[in-house]
Amino acid sequence: MGRYEYSMMKMVYTTENHFIVNNVKNLIEAQGISTFIKNEFSQSAAGEISAFDAWPEIWVFDDSDFQRADDLIKSMYSSNSSVDWICNNCAENNDPSFEICWNCYSEN
Ligand SMILES: [Zn+2]
Repeated sequence: MGRYEYSMMKMVYTTENHFIVNNVKNLIEAQGISTFIKNEFSQSAAGEISAFDAWPEIWVFDDSDFQRADDLIKSMYSSNSSVDWICNNCAENNDPSFEICWNCYSEN
């Protein structure tokens, strides 16, 4: 990958939770925007907590897609209730935009 191509890319989203990152990536790609994830495999296979600076990041390949991807992410968060919900099964805190628990996959 050359320097020119890299300069065209922008990060649109990052969070420590790999499950959420994958959800957001799927949402963006469903709109025909090409993305890739940096630091996707930063968490060890043993499930150790990853370093703060190794959060998975979603990047768009093309700078011109950035605004649309950013809007998608914002609309995703605003179209649902704005409060986190607590999983009945494992008591984990969940982002309002997700209908299943990121931790145990139980339904809201
Ligand atoms: Zn749960």
